Amino acid sequence: MTATPERLDRFMARAVAAYYATRQPFGRQGDFITAPEISQAFGECLGLWAAVVWQAMGRPDPVLLVELGPGRGTLMADALRAVGEVAAPFRAALRLHLVEASPRLREAQRAALGGAVAAWHEDPATLPDGPAILLANEFLDALPIRQFVRRAGAWAERHVREGRFVELPAEEAPPLPETAPEGAIAEASPAARALARALAARLAAQGGAALFLDYGHAGGGFGDTLQAVSRHGRADPLAAPGSVDLTAHVDFAAIAAAAREGGAAAHGPLPQGLFLQRLGLMSRAAILARAAAAAGRRDQAGLILSGAERLVAAEGMGRLFKALCLCHPALPAPPGFEPG
Ligand code: SAH
Repeated sequence: MTATPERLDRFMARAVAAYYATRQPFGRQGDFITAPEISQAFGECLGLWAAVVWQAMGRPDPVLLVELGPGRGTLMADALRAVGEVAAPFRAALRLHLVEASPRLREAQRAALGGAVAAWHEDPATLPDGPAILLANEFLDALPIRQFVRRAGAWAERHVREGRFVELPAEEAPPLPETAPEGAIAEASPAARALARALAARLAAQGGAALFLDYGHAGGGFGDTLQAVSRHGRADPLAAPGSVDLTAHVDFAAIAAAAREGGAAAHGPLPQGLFLQRLGLMSRAAILARAAAAAGRRDQAGLILSGAERLVAAEGMGRLFKALCLCHPALPAPPGFEPG
């Protein structure tokens, strides 16, 4: 008997949930490494970014600080430490809520953040009402995508059966270009769009901002960006669902458009390198490196500088990764997104 083909987004949702439920993906021993695991300055800068946005919002108390997909909790631990040192009123006003599907990673977050967490959520829909500042690093890339292939003047949709792609006529497809070369692949993430739209409606009604950092493109064009990573190398995305990290490039233009439909303003996307430099990430890293060198830890000082460099350099994560901010339309451009 042949298995029923499964639409790619359903396959991906299942594979990603199984992966994060059972694996410890981060770091040298794991499958991949993310910005907060590379440099503590990353979380520190984002914490101070949130504090400045809070000032611009009129210092609401309480205010929700939310992270979507916090992984090991490293970003938030660094952010809270920095905020506690230089923005005590914001630290006192914030209520920390984490959106995390994986029970295993919730435990890791509890270990990193302890009593600082007010509540965990499966989904942003269950967050309490009120003004909110949201942070999300490498969250959107894990949301499921659909893929369409141009065949004989029409769009077919990719499904998965027994570790291989099969193409079936596209049903209830999102709007796709009328013309495309034979064999072209178009991607869409209805899940990411729905999330952006719902968050935007919330921000427009209740105030606040959401910052997304991820790898992706500013929109348009064709191509297959589905990728699987295992032990820091490429793997087959379909072969062993749940055992490899499955992601796709984020279409930032689609996210920004969905956010505007929801009533929010969208700033960016900007290259991550430019954004982090504007937030002073390299200066912060230089201070940390000097302190390490002064304490006789020269190797550590070198690692601090090379880690920060990797986050901002164009040939590292500075160009492919991008920053996009959705916010209440009355807020000024948030730090890093100022025009010019
Ligand atoms: N932000 C962290 C982790 C990125 S990995 C870092 O930068 O290191 C993606 C994270 O999103 C994981 O914590 C994963 O469990 C979570 N995640 C993925 N899909 C999710 C979903 N649909 N709902 C909630 N959390 C999800």
